[in-house]
Amino acid sequence: MVSRVIPVEPFDLVVFGGTGDLATRKILPGLYRRFWAGQIPEGSRIIGAARSEMDDAAYRAMVHEAIAEFVAPDKCDKATLTAFLDSVSYVPIDARGTGGWQQLAGLMRDDVVRAFYFSVAPGLFGDLAQRLHSHAIADPDSRIVVEKPFGRDLDSARKLNATLAEHFDETQIYRIDHYLGKETVQNLMAVRFANILFEPLWNAQYVDHVQITVAETVGVGGRGSYYDKSGAMRDMVQNHMMQLLCLIAMEPPYRFEPDAVRDEKLKVIRALEPVGHDDIVRGQYRGGPRKSGDDELSYTEDVEDPHSLTESYIALKASIANWRWQGVPFYLRTGKKLRARTSEIAVVFKEPPHSIFDEDEAWRENVLAIRLQPNEGMNLSVMIKEPGPGGMRLTDVPLDMSFAEALGEDGADIPDAYERLIMDVIRGNQTLFMRGDEVEAAWAWTDPIIAAWEERGDRPKGYDPYSSGPEDALMLLHRDGRRWREIRG
Ligand code: NAP
Repeated sequence: MVSRVIPVEPFDLVVFGGTGDLATRKILPGLYRRFWAGQIPEGSRIIGAARSEMDDAAYRAMVHEAIAEFVAPDKCDKATLTAFLDSVSYVPIDARGTGGWQQLAGLMRDDVVRAFYFSVAPGLFGDLAQRLHSHAIADPDSRIVVEKPFGRDLDSARKLNATLAEHFDETQIYRIDHYLGKETVQNLMAVRFANILFEPLWNAQYVDHVQITVAETVGVGGRGSYYDKSGAMRDMVQNHMMQLLCLIAMEPPYRFEPDAVRDEKLKVIRALEPVGHDDIVRGQYRGGPRKSGDDELSYTEDVEDPHSLTESYIALKASIANWRWQGVPFYLRTGKKLRARTSEIAVVFKEPPHSIFDEDEAWRENVLAIRLQPNEGMNLSVMIKEPGPGGMRLTDVPLDMSFAEALGEDGADIPDAYERLIMDVIRGNQTLFMRGDEVEAAWAWTDPIIAAWEERGDRPKGYDPYSSGPEDALMLLHRDGRRWREIRG
């Protein structure tokens, strides 16, 4: 299969926070993989920037180490590595200080795309934007990339949008939600809008409900102090899960273009109904003995606050007030220390209106399951006749499409979400990035939900580590005559 890759222009990419966890684990190894794939044009440069004092050689050694750790050895040949590291340099800079800015300004070139990745704490976004502007480092064609969290409520997101807007136009701001960079998520749009097959069924007449699950096996670990101020609703639902819900629920955009797609997503967010107390279950993982004999820490021990009311798990039932989705529940759940690491969207279809087969033939619903991880792919379960004699016995079989298998070598080399998104920044394509009004609308939906449980002082329900979450979450579906899909890795 010949893949058609849209070329990118030579660029200068400045990675603020270039020594941090995200940069060394995702951004820099991702850039290397694109370089290895021949996608980074000659003459492009990557400039790390952070407060730590070091020279180019020391930074290159750090980047080399990151590549060795996070890139498959078969992509790490010496010639490619040397050529990549030659394009890397470093400027010591303080986002809040004066040092380093003149040096960075001196490095900028006029004839290449300039992009600035803000891989630093959100509290520094405004300082960086202001200094890029005042030192004339950014030009009107420059792009800035900002990471999550984008605010912690509507008010802070608005302020952050306003701060960035003082120096950058909306067309220059790339708000990353790395879920949107995943192959399957984009494939969801291809499946919906490039086939006639699904669209006629994609509505309240044929869809019974939708389940979106993002389950992790890890606890909050070393991120406890950050996580405890956030919780599952702010950390996962307001951004990643909301984006997935939008892609399932949105109307077809008139073109696959940034604002056309984002306009449709925004309409979905604005049509979300408020969620009542009875439609939410929050949980916190308990501690317990581990198989190894050590004690497994509970959530409150992990965050070192025995009184914490923050949720490490949330399940909720959302409804969309429009014609297409009238009466179709969207069940969302996400949590830490669950049974398996998996992210999945399942579109569960309704029963056939009349069965011509025996009553006692177990009927199972058709489900389109879209797996984001592990093994990105899609699976459509259909009913067939069980092979062999013995009359008409029915069974369900999966029509399974693993991208890696279906696409052979091309599929095995699916770029990581960050790689794809960084290349889109350089190409100037904002389709897979969140617009400011989308982020604000998402907070406008989540804020009252959070405010309501905070006001009541609700205590999250306990759940056992590596279970499916709190018992009450099962009831959320049972009372509607439905059940959650199994959490399977
Ligand atoms: P981190 O490991 O703490 O790194 C922070 C980086 O910022 C370091 O390079 C640090 O280097 C630099 N820095 C701190 N203060 C600075 C200042 N005043 N001026 C210039 N540089 C400064 O954080 P991270 O995990 O990489 O996260 C970076 C951003 O990505 C955050 O907004 C985070 O929420 C977001 N994010 C991270 C992940 C992830 O997996 N890590 C996932 C999603 C989103 P010096 O100390 O040398 O200055």
